[in-house]
Amino acid sequence: MWADVETSELTGWGRTAPSAASVGTPSSTDQLLDAVRCAPSRGVVARGLGRSYGDPAQNAGGLVLETTGLDRITAFDPAAATVTAQSGVSIGRLLSVLADHGLFVPVTPGTRAVTLGGAIAADVHGKNHHRDGSIGRHLERMTILLADGSRRVVGPGPDADPELFWATLGGMGLTGIVLDATVRALRIAIPWMSVDTRRAGNLDELLAALDDADQRRYSVAWVDCLTTGRSAGRGVVTSGDHAAVEEAREWRRRSSPDPDPAARLTTPGWVPPGLLNRWTVAAFNEAWFRHAPRRRTGERQAPSSFFHPLDGVAGWNGLYGRAGLVQYQCVVPDVSTLRDVLTGLRSARTPTFLAVLKKFGPGNPGPLSFPRPGWTLALDIPASVDGLAALLDRLDTRVAEAGGSVYLAKDSRMRPELVPTFYPRLDEWHALRDRVDPHRLWQSDLSRRLSL
Ligand SMILES: Cc1cc2nc3c(=O)[nH]c(=O)nc-3n(C[C@H](O)[C@H](O)[C@H](O)COP(=O)(O)OP(=O)(O)OC[C@H]3O[C@@H](n4cnc5c(N)ncnc54)[C@H](O)[C@@H]3O)c2cc1C
Repeated sequence: MWADVETSELTGWGRTAPSAASVGTPSSTDQLLDAVRCAPSRGVVARGLGRSYGDPAQNAGGLVLETTGLDRITAFDPAAATVTAQSGVSIGRLLSVLADHGLFVPVTPGTRAVTLGGAIAADVHGKNHHRDGSIGRHLERMTILLADGSRRVVGPGPDADPELFWATLGGMGLTGIVLDATVRALRIAIPWMSVDTRRAGNLDELLAALDDADQRRYSVAWVDCLTTGRSAGRGVVTSGDHAAVEEAREWRRRSSPDPDPAARLTTPGWVPPGLLNRWTVAAFNEAWFRHAPRRRTGERQAPSSFFHPLDGVAGWNGLYGRAGLVQYQCVVPDVSTLRDVLTGLRSARTPTFLAVLKKFGPGNPGPLSFPRPGWTLALDIPASVDGLAALLDRLDTRVAEAGGSVYLAKDSRMRPELVPTFYPRLDEWHALRDRVDPHRLWQSDLSRRLSL
């Protein structure tokens, strides 16, 4: 029996709510199977690169299996633009393998340091959700290790257990461990992005600019959540697409210098307590807004700068000090709810360092998949902010009234009674989960906290 496990304390990316578990990093599927067979009564959960903010990849008193040792690319067909990989492969690695063949991942979150398995378990979305949907739409099939030790190949087609396929997308590792998956890649002409930037002086302008920007494949806005008065809701919209060959010619003709691909910075080991407060964040917001061009089109950017700027700052979550950070991401169906959420944040003068706004397109059939049509707002907030729990509970209530949702992959604090409201097809998901895991082998701190 493979028994290479050690007791370790784990947290999510937000570094709140640590818990201790037996942690193993199998380097083969057989080792993984062995470990699962000897699971303790507190059950097992898979863990990728630990980039979910809260506790879905933790399992206090149970077993956590890191998949990063299972990262082989098992099949690659550049002509068909499909790649099959074990679930522990990172999006970053997939990107570099695809790049040599004029291909790109169909969906990437804001960091490339997530595994394919973690991306599937959260059904991640990117800046192209309005155009391309979330990752689930780009999978041909995946192999899942089920609680009874069997392996099941599932896919979206009618003869491949589509219910289990969709329940696994967004299922936060609670339907089984994804062993591998086949992804359809996106063809690109050249490895550069053509990027438009536009500054918007208030929320109305920002929403109109985002609507416009949706003509591009990728779009997103940064929003200033502290400024009040006529400038309330001001921000900067960034949109873009993979550049065309003609654009590259034009750049060459103008001899634009090669942009710097995301410089790597490191945060200092020690951070003064309270570094990120409403004054420092307000100063940052002002500088960020002023620094952005009023309007610029067709700027050449490296994909790393466009998609993953935060990856250039190693360990940036450390800036939030010992208390860590809470990420709050909701989706709301209408602008008036979005306004209420922003007003709630402003009146509480919450220092939200990174506030990102985006319009989602249609959702997936997955009962626990988060994206659905509407506006999604993602906020990083220091966990030490006074009154934060009460504020976020109030925002949850407003989001629930409007028929919106809060993202499980970012959550560390939602009230369990709201889960059926945020995920109205939860019963359907429970029924499916009971079919494939009647004895609750798959468990996590999140599954117990939210009674999933
Ligand atoms: C800077 C930053 C930016 C982000 N931007 C976005 C974004 O733009 N869009 C977005 O959607 N998300 C975003 N995220 C969230 C992130 O994409 C998800 O939380 C993702 O699940 C993290 O993957 P991971 O490999 O780190 O998984 P972990 O955090 O380790 O685990 C997350 C979940 O996946 C499950 N899991 C992991 N591997 C497997 C497997 N093989 N089989 C079954 N279940 C498994 C775990 O059990 C857990 O429930 C961002 C996170 C960060 C830190």
